[in-house]
Amino acid sequence: MSQNSVVAANIAGRHAAGEALKESEENFAKIFRSAPVALAISTLDQGRFVDVNEAYCRITGYSREEVVGMSSLDMGFWKDPAVREQMVATLLKGGTVHELEAEFVFKNGREAVGLISMELIELGAEKCLLSMVNDITARKRAEEALRESEERYRRIYDETPAMLHSIDREGRLVSVSNYWVEAMGYTREEVLGRRSTDFLTEESRRFALETVLPEYFRTGFCKDVPYRFVKKDGEIMDVLLSATAERDENGEVSRSLAVITDVTALNRAKEELGQAHDELEKRVQERTAELARANALQMKLEQKVLQAQKMDSIGLLAGGIAHDFNNILSGIIGYAEMLQTQIDGNDLTKTCLEQILSISERAVNLTRSLLTFSRKQEILLRPVLVNDAIKRVQKFLSRVIGEDIELRTALAPDLLTVMADSGQFDQVMMNLAANARDAMPVGGVLTIGTELVNLDDDFIRYFGSGQAGNYAMISVVDTGCGMDEPTRERIFEPFFTTKDEGKGTGLGLSIVYGIIKQHNGFIDVVSTPGEGTVFNIYLPLIDASVEELARRVESEAEGGRETVLVVEDDGVVRTMLQDILTEVGYTVLVASTAERAMEMIEEHGDAIRLLVADLVLPKMSGKELFEQAALVNPALKVIFTTGYASEVLEKKGLVEEGANLLLKPFSRNDLLHKVRKILGE
Ligand code: ADP
Ligand code: MG
Repeated sequence: MSQNSVVAANIAGRHAAGEALKESEENFAKIFRSAPVALAISTLDQGRFVDVNEAYCRITGYSREEVVGMSSLDMGFWKDPAVREQMVATLLKGGTVHELEAEFVFKNGREAVGLISMELIELGAEKCLLSMVNDITARKRAEEALRESEERYRRIYDETPAMLHSIDREGRLVSVSNYWVEAMGYTREEVLGRRSTDFLTEESRRFALETVLPEYFRTGFCKDVPYRFVKKDGEIMDVLLSATAERDENGEVSRSLAVITDVTALNRAKEELGQAHDELEKRVQERTAELARANALQMKLEQKVLQAQKMDSIGLLAGGIAHDFNNILSGIIGYAEMLQTQIDGNDLTKTCLEQILSISERAVNLTRSLLTFSRKQEILLRPVLVNDAIKRVQKFLSRVIGEDIELRTALAPDLLTVMADSGQFDQVMMNLAANARDAMPVGGVLTIGTELVNLDDDFIRYFGSGQAGNYAMISVVDTGCGMDEPTRERIFEPFFTTKDEGKGTGLGLSIVYGIIKQHNGFIDVVSTPGEGTVFNIYLPLIDASVEELARRVESEAEGGRETVLVVEDDGVVRTMLQDILTEVGYTVLVASTAERAMEMIEEHGDAIRLLVADLVLPKMSGKELFEQAALVNPALKVIFTTGYASEVLEKKGLVEEGANLLLKPFSRNDLLHKVRKILGE
């Protein structure tokens, strides 16, 4: 039997009456069978299938035989039978059921969604339903899947820990990710609808409008554009922005999705790295400069050490020569003296001998200078107040430099006490002043200053020896001709002079050098040709207590009321002796020759307590003078002054021991102490 035979038979059976009707029914049956939509005829009350077409079988999975005669309700076709009931009720009320959605359970439990349309028909006397079902399960599923995917997309968009935003063709924000609002500090409501460029700094906005966006609308793409966003709290966020565009049917950019990366921390790290790098570079540079300075200092130090070594070896040489020379001089002087006693009358011979002796004295002085330089001289160190020492020597210095040169002093307020031999100190000042005078032939200013300075280890290294600490700095500054580097390097060498023969001996500064060295001090010179010269002398300070100072000042000023006779042919020395002795209270008589001295001794008798006589006097030696004077005044005491080294004198037999001897040059203190000592015996 064909598929449609039951329907056909029924139709044929029940409507056999008319041919026309029959024909129409046959047509209906044909349509019913071949219609591409699923059709079913079922009884109204029970839902029993009367017939189904092929399409219906295809949808439900059942064969026609399996369903015809069965009730859709019994078969559980309707997932919810009430739905059918409602539809039927609607129809019975005269309404329509057109493409209503309903859920079904088909063969093997396959669930499906269908759009169902129903009509009431009469099949013979029986009321039936003609149902048409359109399976929309697949479409439904697709829709569902789409919804789900959109939801997932939405969720990813919103919840991914990245700043995302979408803008419409006007550039207005249509969506932003949670992270976006969080990072920017806004709420979604505050930002949606506003232009994305509203959140850029002025500069970034200009960059966007002028450079980035024109290109973007052309290509629909941009990658890692550096922008600066402004957060709600005003803070700046450095970002990189990448975007892609959706285009409409005309190919125009409609929507855009942007991914934004916050690189503020990165930038800051980069900046810090840069700064660290700069810092490092700066330090390297500083270190390099430091090294260069240290190198320069090192070179200077080496030079200084070489200089010092050179001076030491010269000193050694000079000292050796001077020593031998002294012996030779002793011989010359000794024999000349012997000759002097052998000869009488012949004026020329006498004069020649006097010349020999006076020239020899000059030679003795020279060797003394060399001995001073080579530090072979004995010095007597006593606490000395530097400022006082300078004030004392000032008068002599003025005489040395003459009237065309102004002498100024700039003395420190501090009590600068050093250990010094004041005679030698005076000599240092005299030698420096003499050089300053020579450097200022047309006048100028000589300034002597004192200052308390602290020499640190660097300084000590610079000078090559000594100890760091407090020093008295004595500076002797002139406005003279200055000197060039080669000269400056050699000035302390003995016999180095730039002066004409007869004017300079080249010994002045070597003596200064030797003396300062012996005082554990330093000397330094700064000079530029045409701009004057500065000599700085540093002497180590000692802590002299007030008491000690007071005692020293007292002993220094130690004088007396006695009458002293000074016999000296050199006018300068004579005046100096007179000045010093008078100043401390002695009554001083002076004579330039032995004869004059004898006259005075006879005249004053034993009022004269002390004779201070040069050992070598014209015509008569100081010793002879004293022997004659003692006959007149047996209580008379004596001090001999001499430029000869004691060794020379001993060889000459002039003095047995040095008790009464005062070696030239002597200091004021040496003189006063000696005078007091001899008078006290
Ligand atoms: P002298 O004075 O006999 O030449 P010094 O040892 O006193 O010997 O000085 C050595 C040299 O140092 C001088 O010839 C001179 O060239 C230089 N000199 C010393 N003091 C000064 C100064 N104040 N100004 C310029 N040059 C000086
Ligand atoms: Mg000189």
